[in-house]
Amino acid sequence: MLELIDEASRVLRTPPPEFDFENPPEDPKEIEKNLATAMEQFGGIGLSANQVGLNYRVFVMRTADKGIVAFFNPEITKVSQDTDLMKEGCLSFPDLYLMIKRSKEIEFKYQDAEGEEHTLYLNGLGARCVQHECDHLNGILFLQRASRLKLERALKVRPKERRKRIEYEQRMAYARAIAERESNQNAEPDNGTGIEESDSVVQESQAS
Ligand SMILES: [Zn+2]
Repeated sequence: MLELIDEASRVLRTPPPEFDFENPPEDPKEIEKNLATAMEQFGGIGLSANQVGLNYRVFVMRTADKGIVAFFNPEITKVSQDTDLMKEGCLSFPDLYLMIKRSKEIEFKYQDAEGEEHTLYLNGLGARCVQHECDHLNGILFLQRASRLKLERALKVRPKERRKRIEYEQRMAYARAIAERESNQNAEPDNGTGIEESDSVVQESQAS
């Protein structure tokens, strides 16, 4: 089971090497599967390998059509001058939210788990997520993209955000326990759990 490494770790500040498809150190499909499982468990929309201590240039992201997909050796090749400002979170820095300016549209190339090369054009949340993850793979953290003042403010409210999250998680756990008990009484399969979990992902709006 993969675990998030500590936010203070130097691993998060160090770009991992390219994934070598000629001489793969590990089965890329296994990496994709393990990262996808970890991302779902943590409740993010993107996760980079170095966030869980894997020393490969790859991240996973939730896509609209193909579920969670791995992007190996990604490179952003074009960015729009047009930018927007959005609140971002990061799985490596729980309870810390920052308004970050990023390009609205990007072009990027990557290899899939078979080593096939692709080019993708993205806008909106997808473009933002790829920029956040490529930053991770270049050893750059979203904190570094915010002004000192904004960062100080976010750090100040972090304990309050933490309390809010814990209260929310407790409410969700309580609701799940009730749903489970009811479904046991009705002797029906528990369909409620999955829906609640995906709701929580949306509400927490973690970029990765
Ligand atoms: Zn992140």
